[in-house]
Amino acid sequence: MTNPLLEPWDTPFDMPPFDRIEDGHFMKAVETALVQAREAVEAIASNPETPSFTNTIEALETADETLGRVLGVFYNIAGADTNDERQELSREFSPMLSAYSSDVAMNTALFARIEALWQSRDTLDLTGEQQRLLYLTRRRFVRAGAELEGIAKDRLRSVTERLSSLGVQFTQNLLADERDWMMELTEDELEGLPDFVIDAARAAGAERGVKGPVITLSRSIIVPFLQFSPRRDLRERAHAAWTARGANGGETDNRAIAAEILELREERAGLLGYDDFAEFKLETEMAKTPEAVRELLMKVWEPARDRAVEDGLRLSAMMHNDGVNGDLEPWDWRYYSEKRRMAEHDLDESEIKPYLQLDRMIEAAFDCANRLFGLDFAPVDVPLYHPDVRAWEVTRKGEHIAIFLGDYFARGSKRSGAWCSAIRSQKAGVRPIVVNVCNFAKPSKGKPALLSYDDARTLFHEFGHALHQMLSNVTYESISGTSVARDFVELPSQLFEHWLEVPEVLTKYATHADTGAPMPDEMRDRLLAASTYDMGFHTVEYLGSAIVDLEFHTGEAPEDPIARQQEILDGIEMPKAIGMRHATPHFAHIFSGDGYSSGYYSYMWSEVMDADAFAAFQEAGGPFDPDMAEKLERHILSAGGSQEAADAYIAFRGRMPGPEALLKGRGLDAV
Ligand SMILES: [Zn+2]
Repeated sequence: MTNPLLEPWDTPFDMPPFDRIEDGHFMKAVETALVQAREAVEAIASNPETPSFTNTIEALETADETLGRVLGVFYNIAGADTNDERQELSREFSPMLSAYSSDVAMNTALFARIEALWQSRDTLDLTGEQQRLLYLTRRRFVRAGAELEGIAKDRLRSVTERLSSLGVQFTQNLLADERDWMMELTEDELEGLPDFVIDAARAAGAERGVKGPVITLSRSIIVPFLQFSPRRDLRERAHAAWTARGANGGETDNRAIAAEILELREERAGLLGYDDFAEFKLETEMAKTPEAVRELLMKVWEPARDRAVEDGLRLSAMMHNDGVNGDLEPWDWRYYSEKRRMAEHDLDESEIKPYLQLDRMIEAAFDCANRLFGLDFAPVDVPLYHPDVRAWEVTRKGEHIAIFLGDYFARGSKRSGAWCSAIRSQKAGVRPIVVNVCNFAKPSKGKPALLSYDDARTLFHEFGHALHQMLSNVTYESISGTSVARDFVELPSQLFEHWLEVPEVLTKYATHADTGAPMPDEMRDRLLAASTYDMGFHTVEYLGSAIVDLEFHTGEAPEDPIARQQEILDGIEMPKAIGMRHATPHFAHIFSGDGYSSGYYSYMWSEVMDADAFAAFQEAGGPFDPDMAEKLERHILSAGGSQEAADAYIAFRGRMPGPEALLKGRGLDAV
């Protein structure tokens, strides 16, 4: 049987031949690729020649090339368009891959070669990028347990494998809970909802085979429902289901999984000689220590909480004026906040939305990338994995730079959230294929897709990550694109959001879906002025999660994470009417994998930098200043992980940033 995953891809742009790839191909392809990779690694380890950079470090870079190619395709569709078979494959791959990485990391002969190179690094005549790759490779091995022996080594291996399976289970449980729940609405219950919410609810109903409109747990539906529905009872019901994700009892309950993950992480850190998991995890970040993270978070927490408490009193008074007694609850905040926004800023989201058409916002992001970096985007017709996905070729002065895919609409087969991934990463001689996946509400047939301002920000955010991948220009894949410290990786994405706030961008691209008229200047100014609106709430909701994440991984792992979560929130006096942005049973960032564990703070860490970095453009001569754009590309967007994050930032900006620009940007400096 031929397997398109294992054959050369004789396709335009070396795209994966999605039209020929079937789910039945993946297992065989992964098994074959793993055998190849193991053989290649063994050949390096047992090479009779003296270790050299080429026969060891460079050879390791390409040992699992085929595996990377197959998994690049698989994980993209497993996240963006899953089905039972793909979920089953994910569960099966996870221990197979974890066993392979453990075997590589624990290969004594291989590590001896790496260590020999490391010890003689000063005599090897390496380029800067090669020195960096050697340093990172050795560090990766040490952190994976290469220096351990005997029982400790075996135990670390089983802990790592178990953690990897638990992460997959956590994700799948969450998706199941998100997919299972819906609330059907009668025509009466649509009262007060703007057209775009009603459209989205009807489209969601149709997708789920229900006659009428439904509210689902997709962020693009539930958040506007909580903002606009005057029915407090329905808001409470929807909010309860939303916050209960992963905590519904039965087979999909994530609470015991979270507890086990935390315990195993603590054990893993201990085996490797660290005091706790946070210390282990932060060693490789720009922040370096839990203390540095805590200090930043608390500097922002105090003013944010003060602002939120003050705002809560205002909203509570509005609710009492409405004739509703009792305390302001988490299902009330967004509703009264929306009313207050309209009263104070005269800003009605349903009035803004017709101006934010998905297609125009995509054009806006492309245009900014053109003005900053000279990139051009042309649609291309290539086989893709779902009919909703679109593809563009990215060029500069006629030279091929990348293929960019946009997969923007929510569907039941897609996990929640928004992300950017590379189906193929950049390295010497190879240009990347990059995809942005979002969960925007799909319009009913024949209507244009409309975004909220938040959605438009998400689009720019993910596109910023995409630029980091597409402009990457390094020799080695393992340090290309977004392969940088976790607390640095959100800099390009959050920085790019600032271009959406540039008035001339909105004037040009925010045009009314029905009339084509540009957004009136005064509406644009109101929109921009309102961008710091309710920042107390947003900051507190985010920081609640970031602080719980950090404390979960500091010191001893909690036996009962739910009880510990409450204790931490009580300790910082979390306002009662604000929930965590992600509570433990559905905190996928930190439990679906290792990515953001004791790393959820990174968004804020990066925001310190993005506020400061955008200020550099303003100081230099404006948002499209060519010299700053050139510096941004040279030191950050093209450089991947080829240098320490702090060095890259200083090269771009001339100095390190402080939290002042962030507090100012969030409007929290004058509390
Ligand atoms: Zn991001």
